[in-house]
Amino acid sequence: MLENRVYNFSAGPSMLPESVLVQVRDEMLNYQGSGMSILEMSHRSKVYDAVIVEAENQLRKTMNIPDNYKVLFLQGGATLQFAAVAMNLMTKNGKADYIVTGSFSKKAAKEAKKYGEVNIAASTESENFTRIPRQEELNLSPDADYVHICFNNTIYGTHWDYIPETGNVPLVADMSSCILSEEVDVSKFGLIYAGAQKNMAPAGLTIVIVREDLIGNAMPTTPIVMDYAEQANAASMYNTPPTFTIYVAKLVCEWIASIGGVAELNKVNVRKAAKLYAYLDESKLFQNPVSKESRSLMNVTFKTGDEELDAKFVKEAAAEGLLTLKGHRAVGGMRASIYNAVPEEGVDKLIAFMKEFEAANA
Ligand SMILES: *Cc1c(COP(=O)(O)O)cnc(C)c1O
Repeated sequence: MLENRVYNFSAGPSMLPESVLVQVRDEMLNYQGSGMSILEMSHRSKVYDAVIVEAENQLRKTMNIPDNYKVLFLQGGATLQFAAVAMNLMTKNGKADYIVTGSFSKKAAKEAKKYGEVNIAASTESENFTRIPRQEELNLSPDADYVHICFNNTIYGTHWDYIPETGNVPLVADMSSCILSEEVDVSKFGLIYAGAQKNMAPAGLTIVIVREDLIGNAMPTTPIVMDYAEQANAASMYNTPPTFTIYVAKLVCEWIASIGGVAELNKVNVRKAAKLYAYLDESKLFQNPVSKESRSLMNVTFKTGDEELDAKFVKEAAAEGLLTLKGHRAVGGMRASIYNAVPEEGVDKLIAFMKEFEAANA
């Protein structure tokens, strides 16, 4: 790591690969001989067109996206997709199934209710969202227009350990906090969306990957920038796309390719998370409340059970260069978000510090 940089465990925006930041810096004032910064460049220019085309190619390669899926580069965050999914897809029978496994899926269901009938097909709220429901617990409607899940629950530190079987009903997944962290069979999903600021770029970009046959039936009231068919026809340029963020997403995909692709990256992610959970399982001070099969590789929650001690931990960790470890207010305690760009050494250093803290505060 460059001097003066810290290990940042923020849930998002979050760490970016250092080599990507260095390349952004080096290209900042004069992008590839154009004489201007990528920040200043028209999205309709030839130079920029090559950037967005390559960003899509790279993402398609990285995620192995089948040809019958559109890739859209949009704005508004994952939160705007809570409405966009409903406005575009809840148009055959006017109803959809939502599986509630945390704050974001709950918000998605609430937003969708404005546009049609929402059936909560399962919820683990009564168990504080500490696990993902099993297939047999899902009360799915055969005539739903889609089933919505949140694949990785950023706040509660849970992750779907299986892809639910939904028959002919398309599966829609919010993958904001796990996209590019593991291999995913895109063909099992009708639509995947993700805010980019957790695992692929700075804030400002939202990725939508949608099967072609699902678009073109948006509600007439759908704002044009939210209409998937309009954006697909315009190659994500109906209006100005988030040009800089798309450029960084391209660099991040190139970085993933340079280290052997998502499969290789996933091995590191599994190793990073396994170490941290192994320590949490043996620790007498820290606890992780999540059911083992539902544990997230990206967001690891833990607490001591004593709020003052938690606060002391967060403060002392920061003094050691381990930052942004405070848990979400809905859960309390601590959360280490260990996305792709958090180096394994950062996790090692965190565990070493947790052991020291445990010894000093037992
Ligand atoms: C961060 C996050 C969101 C919200 O994303 P915005 O881009 O801020 O709208 C939604 N879903 C999940 C799973 C997230 O992690």
